[in-house]
Amino acid sequence: MENNNTNQTSETTVSSDKNESSGDIELVYYPDDLLRQSTTTVKDIDDSLRTTIDRMVLLMQHARGIGLAAPQVGILERFFVVQIDSDPVHVFVNPSIVGTSHETGVYEEGCLSIPGLYADVKRPSEIQVQAWSQNGRPFTLNADGMLARVILHELDHLNGVLFLDHLAERKREKLLQRYRKPQDAAR
Ligand SMILES: [Zn+2]
Repeated sequence: MENNNTNQTSETTVSSDKNESSGDIELVYYPDDLLRQSTTTVKDIDDSLRTTIDRMVLLMQHARGIGLAAPQVGILERFFVVQIDSDPVHVFVNPSIVGTSHETGVYEEGCLSIPGLYADVKRPSEIQVQAWSQNGRPFTLNADGMLARVILHELDHLNGVLFLDHLAERKREKLLQRYRKPQDAAR
């Protein structure tokens, strides 16, 4: 998910300790079919997965996003990363929503894979999510507010669903008239 807070002044600094071969993973942009595929369960939470997760976190931070799901970098497996502002990074491997509130909220969303488009999306206000960490530890998290929203947005990506799909058809078509897919070289 994209952070559309234009008042944000703190530039995200990225550690350069790690070997960040940025050519390794790249953002997939709408309407790429990769964003519409189903994903498979992660079988091994190993060093290879952790390397991919580290690269996704760097990519998310560079792009000033607050969430990034594996299909957005062309990996059709069930995991995503979330970092809201200066909060710690949350990693969710094989996540499932185990509870949602009846109460809903509306907030403007954007997506790193659909740059430039924003729209109000209605989602449950509170959720309980179960997942595994990058170290293979299972956890259950109660989330509300922006964290709940980003988790639901990223979880949608694991099911080939985009925030556009939550809009009325007319609104979606109007919004998409303004969309221009970025050139790959522009990254
Ligand atoms: Zn997204």
